[in-house]
Amino acid sequence: MQKDQVLPELALLRETFQHGITRELKWRRSQLLALDTFLVEREKDIADAVHEDFRKSAAETFLTETGYLRGEIRFALKHLKSWMKPHQVSVPLIYQPAKGYYSREPYGVVLIIGAWNYPLNLCLAPLISALAAGNCAVIKPSEHAPHTSSIIAEGLGHYLDRRAVCVIEGGVEVAKSLLEARFDYIFYTGSYTIGREVMSAAARHLTPITLELGGKCPCIVDMNSDIRVAARRIVWAKFLNAGQTCLAPDYVLVHEKREAELLSSMREAITAFYGDDPRLSPDYPRIVNEQHFKRLETLLVGSSVWRGGETDFDERYVAPTILRGVTPTSAVMQSEIFGPLLPVIAYKELEEVFDIIRSAKEPLAIYLFSSDRDVQERVVHLSRSGGVCINDLLFHAALYTLPFGGIGSSGFGAYHGKAGFETFSFKRSVMKRALYPDPALRYPPYSIRKFGILKHLFSLFPL
Ligand code: NAD
Repeated sequence: MQKDQVLPELALLRETFQHGITRELKWRRSQLLALDTFLVEREKDIADAVHEDFRKSAAETFLTETGYLRGEIRFALKHLKSWMKPHQVSVPLIYQPAKGYYSREPYGVVLIIGAWNYPLNLCLAPLISALAAGNCAVIKPSEHAPHTSSIIAEGLGHYLDRRAVCVIEGGVEVAKSLLEARFDYIFYTGSYTIGREVMSAAARHLTPITLELGGKCPCIVDMNSDIRVAARRIVWAKFLNAGQTCLAPDYVLVHEKREAELLSSMREAITAFYGDDPRLSPDYPRIVNEQHFKRLETLLVGSSVWRGGETDFDERYVAPTILRGVTPTSAVMQSEIFGPLLPVIAYKELEEVFDIIRSAKEPLAIYLFSSDRDVQERVVHLSRSGGVCINDLLFHAALYTLPFGGIGSSGFGAYHGKAGFETFSFKRSVMKRALYPDPALRYPPYSIRKFGILKHLFSLFPL
């Protein structure tokens, strides 16, 4: 059975795209503005929904979801017209008279599958790029953030053009059945394991794809760094969203001479941010579900806790926790932690840091605290990751002017700002030639003399 029949919405979206409705600048702008209105008018409902899902505070939801998305919309609105302009290219003399250009064309109907940890952002940021590029979109939010999923479905149905955007809610089975249909582009955010399944499903239709995956992001704290600032920033980035952030520092590698100072500064920062008992802090979220809670508890059992370690099953609470005595072979170092446990490993020489990082899969980001330019250069040039942030964390992903994406096992492709527009469009080349002159030289039969002249011409007018 044709999947388009199973999914009548997809047939409607295809028709809309084929009629060229979504290609117009005016339509694209109207949809971006409507999305902005949704974020403004429903800000409180959105914050309540995210809070229901894992007790994230309204301030954190504003910073990482609605506020971020509104900035992305403003940036797209400001630059859209210039992004859409065709690029003229030069044409060698031998092909004259002619003109050549390429334009950025929308793919068509795209599928966006989001993850639960930034449940609004991970669906709507790609949607902003998809709409800016002139596509129709089907969005499948994560079933693990059901309240946010339902406000996305209700809100987009109300504010956006239903002929072009539709939200399909559901879990694994729904995602799998969507993947059986043919889309023109797939944008997936989630785990490495599922990412591979999505990629093989995309291969069945030769559908181009972006995979935004995770990994273990290391944070290096060098001899020459301001430990107090480093500690505050690391604690903020790690325990934001209770560690359930793809870009969170997964573990810290600190120079042995600064380890004690870093540990005590991080302890101070945890107390300053979340109080003596973080369980009571309105700013400290919970673990999204029982399965992830149990996974984190298992990791805790085999680790040596330096600070924190308390858990509460009923609330799915895991305290901000710092682990010591961890080695690269410890259980906690074998996969992405994706929760509020922060292993700290001391090193003597920078080479040890490279060994640890290189022995693992490519992370989404590498963080470095160091005022030493030489160390900064070495870390940037001798490692691989989707991004690097020096003397801070996460903020490289907040810049609309920088592409955001992974490499190797942290995924491929990128979005945010212009990179998102480019991801959701392809370069279509157009050449316009004059009908005359039409010399016989290009056509067979190619006599020895003709061939000689052709060769001579090519050497006179190099391409
Ligand atoms: P998840 O369980 O919410 O899954 C993501 C999406 O995949 C959901 O919509 C889900 O329904 C769908 N899905 C599940 N099984 C599927 C299947 N077999 N086929 C197709 N779709 C399927 O999220 P998760 O996977 O637990 O996400 C956590 C991971 O995502 C972490 O590794 C994290 O680092 C990564 N992540 C990456 C980014 C990024 O921007 N690179 C952002 C957030 C999370």
